[in-house]
Amino acid sequence: MNTIQNVCVFCGSSDKVGEAYLEAAGEMGRALARRNLTLVYGAGGTGLMGALADAALKGGAYVIGITPESFNTPQLMHSNLLEFHVVETMHERKALMVDISDAFIALPGGYGTLEELFEILCWAQVGLHHKPIGVLDALGYFEPLINLIEHARREGFIYEEHRGLLICDANPDALLDQMAAYQPPEGLERWVNRHEEG
Ligand code: AMP
Repeated sequence: MNTIQNVCVFCGSSDKVGEAYLEAAGEMGRALARRNLTLVYGAGGTGLMGALADAALKGGAYVIGITPESFNTPQLMHSNLLEFHVVETMHERKALMVDISDAFIALPGGYGTLEELFEILCWAQVGLHHKPIGVLDALGYFEPLINLIEHARREGFIYEEHRGLLICDANPDALLDQMAAYQPPEGLERWVNRHEEG
């Protein structure tokens, strides 16, 4: 089993999404709080980010927000976090999130969320970390993405062994259980060492 304490969650900042998505983010926040896990996230107060942090705080979770200076405005930031870090750039923010987190979860989101999910997957693929990565498939939101990943695998762009890098579940507790039991796939080094193959 992995020792998971700090869970980094990437999710949408848009306020224009359906109520059911906000509710799903709340479910995730409550699940983290029930397990006494610490939420690490982008410090936003809007959309799923706000719903997630509100629910986690209400449940008693410790919540750490990390933002680049450019987002640090009262309109965008959550006002009630227990720990709040302002860094200079998006890259510094990501690096700090990765350093202090033991696991990563993406909830439904847009470009920002998808970029964060794929960067952390890519870093796992090249062996920069071995931490579990999951998506909460609320309302089947990630089904087209999972299908695209499967398509990429069938077409040879993603190695078979890298499929197991991404854990997917619609239920927050089941997702966290799977992430706790995660073992990095065997053969990850094939990507890193492929230049040595004949
Ligand atoms: P998006 O999915 O495009 O809404 O982007 C959400 C992701 O990008 C979050 O996980 C954040 O890390 C970052 N992000 C985008 N917008 C904001 C915002 N208003 N406040 C804080 N972080 C944001």
